[in-house]
Amino acid sequence: MAETTSLLRMRRGNSTEGSNPSRSATIAESLARGLRNFFCLLASGSLPSMSSHTLLPDDERWMFKALEAAQRAELEGDVPVGCVVVHPELGLVASAYNKREAEQDPTAHAEVLALRQASQNLRRWRLSDCTIYVTLEPCFMCAGALVNARVRRVVYAATDAKAGACESLANLLSDERLNHRCEWTRGVLEEPAREQLKSFFRARRKKTIQE
Ligand SMILES: [Zn+2]
Repeated sequence: MAETTSLLRMRRGNSTEGSNPSRSATIAESLARGLRNFFCLLASGSLPSMSSHTLLPDDERWMFKALEAAQRAELEGDVPVGCVVVHPELGLVASAYNKREAEQDPTAHAEVLALRQASQNLRRWRLSDCTIYVTLEPCFMCAGALVNARVRRVVYAATDAKAGACESLANLLSDERLNHRCEWTRGVLEEPAREQLKSFFRARRKKTIQE
């Protein structure tokens, strides 16, 4: 922290020519205080999680596959959420979609089903070299399962303000208290994913009114 403060002092020396030195000192001190608080919060794990926001070349291609899987959920009367698991050498090792209604199973979310399928295909429960693409921000159960599976990277399309546990309601993927952290990126093909969900709920409302 001393280094940060002296760096700020150096910057202050370079950038405040002609301005009020005491005011500049106050600004630099408050910046230094802000940085100190930031690093303290970071160390305590209380900061909101940081996503990489780095898009990799195939992200859209795999998210498109997840959207296709989500489409199948919709055809079966389930909320359209799709998920694929990608291995760096083998490529696609699992593809699943939400089956909560179809199977009358509260745990049959796309991510849980995809993790099971990938583990069976790879014959191991640790998926530390895999990337998960899912069309909606994972919930508490699924984010917990992703951490338990030691997934390397999670990419999702739309955020879920009511149930999302990666940034909306909690930051499970990057919680320092847990024994594994997943890298995560959001917003890949967000618009089509959001539109898919909206049109599903629009159609369902219409159906309910007609009945
Ligand atoms: Zn879930």
